[in-house]
Amino acid sequence: MCYTVPVMITVILKKGKEKSVLRRHPWVLSGAVERVVGHGEPGEIVRVADRGGNLLATGFYNPISPIPVRLFSWHRESVEDNFWEKALQTAISLRVFPTLPDKTNACRLVFSESDFMPGLIVDRYNDHLIMQCLNPGIARLKNRIAHHLMEILSPRGIYEKSDSDILKLEGLSPHCGILAGVTPPETIAIQENGYEFFVNPISGHKTGFYLDQRDNRWITALYAQGRTVLDAFSYTGGFSVYTAGHSAASLTRIDASHEALSLGEKNLAANFPAPPPSENIRGNVFQVLRKFRDAGRQFDMIILDPPRLAPTRSHQNRASRGYKDINLLAMKLLRPGGILSTFSCSGGIDAATFERIVSWAAIDAKREIQILRRLFQGPDHPVRVAFPEGSYLKGLLCRVL
Ligand code: SAH
Repeated sequence: MCYTVPVMITVILKKGKEKSVLRRHPWVLSGAVERVVGHGEPGEIVRVADRGGNLLATGFYNPISPIPVRLFSWHRESVEDNFWEKALQTAISLRVFPTLPDKTNACRLVFSESDFMPGLIVDRYNDHLIMQCLNPGIARLKNRIAHHLMEILSPRGIYEKSDSDILKLEGLSPHCGILAGVTPPETIAIQENGYEFFVNPISGHKTGFYLDQRDNRWITALYAQGRTVLDAFSYTGGFSVYTAGHSAASLTRIDASHEALSLGEKNLAANFPAPPPSENIRGNVFQVLRKFRDAGRQFDMIILDPPRLAPTRSHQNRASRGYKDINLLAMKLLRPGGILSTFSCSGGIDAATFERIVSWAAIDAKREIQILRRLFQGPDHPVRVAFPEGSYLKGLLCRVL
């Protein structure tokens, strides 16, 4: 193996703090650092060593971040010159058939720490790639990464959309613009499991679409036949299109965003000449569900896919109350035998906690539930066992008695 990239700075860990590095967790928190040998600028590649000077791993340095080192290699010396090209190649090779379903041309190609490339997100939407660089280390490499992606995938273009809230913690400002090839059109048409969706990568949420829910939309829809469906937090209608495809009797979609609802309408029309009767409600799900309860409305299937209510564990209590609230209300709105497909994408709530919250909601709603499936993010969002934080999306598909 050839080691050609010189790394000058060494971050020495406090006694005992090497354990998490040895277990291959990719984050070195500020409280774990004893001292830094050499002067490291934000974004520089550094080595991490224990107090005895034994080299343990290599990562991106950012002294102002609460996570001053994000590790990507556990080789002892340095990183190979073609490390990034190889890491990209490996990540992309995981996202080919049969990993992804047929008639699907949109997926996450690179998922940050979980693909050994901290801070890098690359999503494919048909023949365009959308990229996020969420720390100074990966931001320094973005042109090199874009060049290699052009070489191996030949997309029409690669657009950077680095606009996440977490940039602030890294001392970065939002940055959007073309990196290679042509700028994507305002709307890109993609296929997912044979359904067509319009995605607005530049103006939409995240990179434009919730790719992590692909499998869960499919599984949920298997139970939709003949049911009146409430798609709460519908965004651009992902679950609505799939449930319509499995002969749902009617669709009610609720979202706070007018743009998302109208794109959802277009997505339904693109797939079905005569979609099921459908109703769009722009509003706050927490309030609309209460109104429905007071009006005695009932549904046969409810999907709850809220935004992240608990980004970290410190938000757990408030978020738990939020999850319990909407799940309890949804259970009350379901006819006996109804299906609840309920999710949490909060890193601060693990799967066991989420299941407990849903079971408390069932007790308070005086309903019994059977779990039919436990749901997770799709395989294009892999989870490293050493990095459980990468496992953020959990869901339950339940029958509510
Ligand atoms: N289920 C969607 C993804 C949902 S993302 C899919 O499969 O594509 C979460 C959505 O919740 C966003 O569209 C956001 O606009 C909406 N949202 C956030 N808070 C809300 C609230 N309190 N009431 C209604 N919608 C909300």
